[in-house]
Amino acid sequence: MRPLLEVQDLVHAYGERFVLTAGHWTLHPGQVVALVGPSGSGKSTFLKILGAHLTPEQGEVRFRSRLIPPQADALLPGHPGIGLVRQDFGQMPFRKVRENLLHFVHTDSDAQEARWTAQWLRSVGLTGMEDVPTGQLSGGQVQRLALAQTWASKPQVLLLDEPFSHLDPDTKRGLLDDLRAWQVHSKRAVVVVVHDIRDALEWADRIDVLMDGSMVASGTPQALYRTPPTRSVARLFGRLNELPEAAAQALLRAPLPGWNFDGTRCFYPEQLRPACFREPQTVVRSDFQGDRTWSVWDTPHGLLYGLEE
Ligand code: ADP
Ligand code: MG
Repeated sequence: MRPLLEVQDLVHAYGERFVLTAGHWTLHPGQVVALVGPSGSGKSTFLKILGAHLTPEQGEVRFRSRLIPPQADALLPGHPGIGLVRQDFGQMPFRKVRENLLHFVHTDSDAQEARWTAQWLRSVGLTGMEDVPTGQLSGGQVQRLALAQTWASKPQVLLLDEPFSHLDPDTKRGLLDDLRAWQVHSKRAVVVVVHDIRDALEWADRIDVLMDGSMVASGTPQALYRTPPTRSVARLFGRLNELPEAAAQALLRAPLPGWNFDGTRCFYPEQLRPACFREPQTVVRSDFQGDRTWSVWDTPHGLLYGLEE
């Protein structure tokens, strides 16, 4: 299948401090790709390049095999087939919700405008807020408005820059469910930047990991979780037990859990159970977390985290 969006030999630098590179990167129709990595790793820069809001110094970006021209040649930033929801949402605070929503949508009549506004606001749970100045919305509501605005332009590719940041867990869950329902229904392709890889696990077909401007790993959520290629990638999944290999062999029975990265044995808390120890260890804490209880063991090599049973 032909990729919807394709990047080849990309290089983009901000002075000498930061360089983003990507050899070959693709997004296929209907695919959901999560882009994760620490702050400053280049996620927003990559997304802006994908969304034609930034022209890379070197390399090509193609939409349906056609080269996206440099933005200097465009009247408006962006590409009609690609919708980018920016990290700052790009909303104008003094405009009413309706005006921001319809800013990029061309309508022929007032009746059509009213229908569309109602439809898009209903889809993101903002019904009745048409005339509220955008500056009076809560953080979560602005995020929903930015999404509705982008959905309204019916993009083939939706690019989302940290849509879940600054949201309380309840609102985040609602937004994630809305997004999944929209994607399942529309079968559109999505690239979503998330800070926390756990926000991507249930949704993404593929996770790409960006560190210091380079793609260091790419794979299905299952593959990256089960066989992380580096310690940094393993650390993205939450707390990681890390022990010098010799210490791990002295403390734990074979087969040892986890992976050896440069002489350090690394394993998730869910890979450690009391039966893994050669000798019983002292439990210093039990952390209740609803569906399971974690034990914290005080070992001669420091604290280790694992399952109670
Ligand atoms: P992320 O979204 O992963 O946090 P960014 O793509 O925003 O990362 O930024 C990557 C790096 O480039 C950071 O060090 C950031 O400070 C720098 N940077 C981002 N935008 C600019 C810019 N317009 N000019 C100069 N440096 C920038
Ligand atoms: Mg960013």
